[in-house]
Amino acid sequence: MSDNAALPRLPMTRPSIDEATIAGVVEVLRSGWITSGPKVSEFQNALSQLFGGRPVRAFNSGTCTMEIALRIAGIGAGDEVITTPLSWVATSNVILEVGATPVFVDIDPVTRNIDLQRVEAAITPRTKAILPVDLAGLPVDRDVLYALATKHRLRVIEDAAQSIGSSWNGKLIGSTGDFVSFSFHPNKNITTIEGGCLVMNTDAEAKLAEQYRLQGVQRSGYDGMEVDVLGGKFNLTDVAARVGLGQLPHLQTFTAQRRELARCYHELLSAQPDLQLGLPPADFTHSNWHMFQVVLPEQRLSVPRATIMAELDAAGIGTGVHYPPIHLFALYQRLGFRAGQFPLAEYAGRNILTLPLFVGMTPADVARVVDQLGRSLRSHLA
Ligand SMILES: *Cc1c(COP(=O)(O)O)cnc(C)c1O
Repeated sequence: MSDNAALPRLPMTRPSIDEATIAGVVEVLRSGWITSGPKVSEFQNALSQLFGGRPVRAFNSGTCTMEIALRIAGIGAGDEVITTPLSWVATSNVILEVGATPVFVDIDPVTRNIDLQRVEAAITPRTKAILPVDLAGLPVDRDVLYALATKHRLRVIEDAAQSIGSSWNGKLIGSTGDFVSFSFHPNKNITTIEGGCLVMNTDAEAKLAEQYRLQGVQRSGYDGMEVDVLGGKFNLTDVAARVGLGQLPHLQTFTAQRRELARCYHELLSAQPDLQLGLPPADFTHSNWHMFQVVLPEQRLSVPRATIMAELDAAGIGTGVHYPPIHLFALYQRLGFRAGQFPLAEYAGRNILTLPLFVGMTPADVARVVDQLGRSLRSHLA
């Protein structure tokens, strides 16, 4: 038996939900009102306060939030939306969902976010919006992003699913900008089990968001009902909102804990230059450290990434891949995308590895991951 056999399993991530929240959820369940109601309103108000008073509406995912933002912006068939190929497939699926065309721009190999320097070359008369992603919580440069958007009169839908608690030059992501979309999936820094929210600019946009959220319905008085847009079924439940209300007060301490763990990873991995891992930028000012990802040295490894993942798994350490590049999925290849079009995203997609990072993890846990990763890599380095 290895020394590690006695150690508890370290998952890649895990939500952190306190007892008061669990008790609060039980209260909601007993209250007689469990779907969208007072808790959703309370949650929306708390989010709006967090984002400097901007209009916010909550939804049942961080996917529909982006789809609805695109609809509010009037983006559809014939329009192009510029985005990154290195993201969760939802980022691009929503563009297809509204009938528009995703236009991918390769990543910056250091930040692994969309390379804003290459965006201008991808703009055509059909371009209506940019949909950037803050991968692993590291914000895309908002100054460059909004300079581009202003110059070319483009809407921006920030896929900030991973960057709640991150900031740009001292301003919390969500408190400035155009549309900002967050996800509260359990893997994200705060959760509602499933859910998301959209930050908007005006009350008129928020009203439209409410319509898209629930079948297009507009109510008035005691008995008035009208439907003038095609909406869906995207409302958050009060049970989920109560989970979110219990998470929000922890956002700052969660972020601080994640930063400390990321600092540990950086320090320990930087001390092993022979591994030649692609480390994320040591950004402890802007990033919320939603994930800690390394890029494996493909040219020097004699085994595929999956072997390293299997060895870590056998040692009780969970890892993940975020993400395989979107344009190489069969659905996207059928639309005409091909291997070789975005080589930097493809390289990252083949070699990126997400290591465990969650609230409640300790520096000793980080050391254990680094030690095991080092052992595994050294036994396969050519
Ligand atoms: C999680 C995530 C989404 C989608 O959020 P859901 O709440 O799962 O719908 C979108 N984009 C990115 C980058 C994400 O990480």
